[in-house]
Amino acid sequence: MLLAFMADIHGNQEALEAVLAEIDQAGPDRTYCLGDMVGYGPNPHECVAALRARHIPSLSGNHDRAACGSLDTNYFNEEARRSIEWTRGQLTPEDILYLQDLALVSQTELFSATHGTLLRPEDFDYVLTGEDAYNCFLAHDRRIAFVGHSHVPLSFFLREEKELLATIEPRYQIGEGMRAIVNVGSVGQPRDGNPDAAFALFDTETLGVTIRRVRYDIERTATKVRAAGLPEINALRLFVGQ
Ligand code: ZN
Repeated sequence: MLLAFMADIHGNQEALEAVLAEIDQAGPDRTYCLGDMVGYGPNPHECVAALRARHIPSLSGNHDRAACGSLDTNYFNEEARRSIEWTRGQLTPEDILYLQDLALVSQTELFSATHGTLLRPEDFDYVLTGEDAYNCFLAHDRRIAFVGHSHVPLSFFLREEKELLATIEPRYQIGEGMRAIVNVGSVGQPRDGNPDAAFALFDTETLGVTIRRVRYDIERTATKVRAAGLPEINALRLFVGQ
């Protein structure tokens, strides 16, 4: 089976539409969203509606939780908090109920999926260091973990339960005797220095992972960010992928 994973859309409708068009071309059997549909960007309702219309199941991200009142915004920096408050005003009561209902973790026989890490997923910690990765490996028993949250497609491998490796390669195979944590990157606010929207394709037969990048109309999104009165940084960072 071919699976598509996306995360961290953050109300960026142009990036989401560009990614969905690429996903349509790739034709996966299933598509999953790993959370943070909203926050920062100017089209939170449209992004939630687009995923729901396509029946793409999503997990809960910290911004989704904050926007629907399930997570305290003290956790956020000033810009993120202002963005969340604005976002709340854009969501319909039905959007709020939908966001409140999202799960933190989902699992198949082959993989676990969550927004941040599998060690206390409700805390939304990042997987950025070897220690973070090791703790995430120990916190679940599936071969693969698909995550988002850092907006950086940095993946980790645990070989023979003892050797820890990391890669930013956009295409790799999870080899014999290896477990993996696959960060699928961000659709709507990449932070790895590449402004193109990111998503992942995963072949369940070969265990091959491909991180795909997609150009979209950043100028248009930035214009909407400014028109909405959202923090200027929310527009600027899109151009540089930070
Ligand atoms: Zn995010």
